[in-house]
Amino acid sequence: MAYKKNEEFDDEVTSSLTKNYKEILSNLVDNSDREGLEKTPERVAKAMQYLTQGYHLDAKAILSSAKFHEDVSEMIIVKDIELYSMCEHHLLPFYGKAHVAYIPNGYITGLSKIARVVDVYSRRLQVQERLTQQILNAIKDTLNPLGVAVVIEASHLCMMMRGVQKQNSVTTTSAFDGEFMKNATRSEFLKLIGANLH
Ligand SMILES: [Zn+2]
Repeated sequence: MAYKKNEEFDDEVTSSLTKNYKEILSNLVDNSDREGLEKTPERVAKAMQYLTQGYHLDAKAILSSAKFHEDVSEMIIVKDIELYSMCEHHLLPFYGKAHVAYIPNGYITGLSKIARVVDVYSRRLQVQERLTQQILNAIKDTLNPLGVAVVIEASHLCMMMRGVQKQNSVTTTSAFDGEFMKNATRSEFLKLIGANLH
């Protein structure tokens, strides 16, 4: 299901959020009712609903909608999937790339569905560790593959703009299951995505 601008915003939620963001703005800036900020509460209300739309989407249903029987048992890798999420501690973005691999056990899914699953869990309030595990679990539970691996490399604005201000730090998280618990399989995957885990 593609994102549909008109259907995505619940009027009641939008008006409640708008009211609250108006209050927040008035606490942060002097003249929050000046022209440039006039429509900001409503815009933020809609933007935040967009950025959290993953709560209304079902990753397993998306994967199942394109589940095909196929006798392949080679590793399937989708790498460099763009990812934009929001840290649940500061409500600031983190962004980067996800690399996902699985070894089929009779069933494969559409490659674009893997990217959709990354979106479904990214568009929620997240911590990177949980996001990584949720992507793995959705694939594991739906396709029952011989193994699944997920690596996420992301930059967190809450670290870059505030706090420790480490502008160039990248956080890497990983989750492995099944065949990827074996060193050889895991190494092959990490080599293919060009990641260097310690
Ligand atoms: Zn944070």
